[in-house]
Amino acid sequence: MTKLIDIIGQKFGRLTVTGRAGYGHKQATWHCVCECGNEKTTNGQNLRKGLTTSCGCYQKERASEEAAKTVRHGHGYGTPTYKSWQALRQRCENQKDKDYENYGAKGVKVCERWQDFSAFLEDMGERPEGTTIDRINPFGNYEPDNCRWADYFVQNNNKREHWKGEANVFA
Ligand SMILES: [Zn+2]
Repeated sequence: MTKLIDIIGQKFGRLTVTGRAGYGHKQATWHCVCECGNEKTTNGQNLRKGLTTSCGCYQKERASEEAAKTVRHGHGYGTPTYKSWQALRQRCENQKDKDYENYGAKGVKVCERWQDFSAFLEDMGERPEGTTIDRINPFGNYEPDNCRWADYFVQNNNKREHWKGEANVFA
């Protein structure tokens, strides 16, 4: 019979061993108390190999951190909001984009803050269905004060023609 190694009082990750729980087939199981106050029973091998390092609270914290990150970064690639952001950067910054001549070539810029998608999402929110991004002043840049999600009707009434007489104001 293998000798039982006493690990009472030792700390493994967040768990401190408080007593022996019993014997498994080959190894002892141990009562532990977690830093968060929960109790956990696990076997010695899991503790020594670092397979069990908390009552489960560590994994839960990690999972909620990941979820928060996903929200902050706007649900990642492929969402309508992300596609809008990508498209507006393309037409302002990529000379090969089919719309560049009407945007980038005319001096329309994407503000520095919006080089980061999460900042764009924070300012604009998720893109509502049936809308596209609209610059309130069509000669202005893509920046928080000059943009809104607008449906086709609103945008159609805000074409550059309506601003022609005042073009110099925004030049
Ligand atoms: Zn815990």
